Amino acid sequence: MPKRSRGTTTERGYGADHQRERDRWVRIQREGGEHERAEGALRCRAVQCLMPTRWIWPGEAWDLGHDERRQWRGPEHEKCNRSEGGIRGNAVRGQPRPVVYRGHLSVDARGL
Ligand SMILES: [Zn+2]
Repeated sequence: MPKRSRGTTTERGYGADHQRERDRWVRIQREGGEHERAEGALRCRAVQCLMPTRWIWPGEAWDLGHDERRQWRGPEHEKCNRSEGGIRGNAVRGQPRPVVYRGHLSVDARGL
């Protein structure tokens, strides 16, 4: 998998726990899970999903979301995760605001 340009999880303030939980979801994505689709799509757990569907398709960038008590919520579209964090000013402090693409939805190539 190509390296992400926005820093490691540790640099973003997360530690090994985050990495382990993320790995768990990557495995679920590969093998399928109770609430996921067999095609490898994960369900976005964001409180407010900004995408047309809650499915996170294989190859789409996603973040591991958590609530204000730092309990893992599960995978969320990168866009949903960042916008919510931006509003609360917690997990993504220092990250750029989500980019709004005009005209069409553009896939964020950094996550691919
Ligand atoms: Zn979403």
